[in-house]
Amino acid sequence: MRNLGRRGIAAGMMAGTIVRVATCRCGQLQATCTGEPVRVSVCHCLDCQKRSGSAFAVQARWPHADVTLAGEFTEWSHTADSGSRATFRFCPRCGATVTFAIAALPGLTGVPVGAFADPQFPPPAFSVYEARMHSWVAIVGADVERWD
Ligand SMILES: [Zn+2]
Ligand SMILES: [Zn+2]
Repeated sequence: MRNLGRRGIAAGMMAGTIVRVATCRCGQLQATCTGEPVRVSVCHCLDCQKRSGSAFAVQARWPHADVTLAGEFTEWSHTADSGSRATFRFCPRCGATVTFAIAALPGLTGVPVGAFADPQFPPPAFSVYEARMHSWVAIVGADVERWD
């Protein structure tokens, strides 16, 4: 038996849920992220500097179930500068990391914000490992929570 009222509500909720897609450089590896991220942060640790190739890294996190990875990937695990075990999934062709998970934040998948190529992406609420921050870097925002 069809219940048109319920179907209508479900369709409306789906239409109101934001979906963002992160990709590697060549585009074959894609992470589809449903809903707003639960955490957006900047990390200045040396490991994030190495991974991103930049002076700091920006990442967004969702519950595992809200991120769907499609395409071929290679996985690599490593103990980060922070001391936390981390597992990275990256494209074997172009090398870009598309998702990662760290033991310190269980249940969450991290996605490098740059992989969305979206300058309108929500700004970071956390700036961590500021002890490793380059002297010329300033993460602005009165509400940003800062940790050394
Ligand atoms: Zn690629
Ligand atoms: Zn880091």
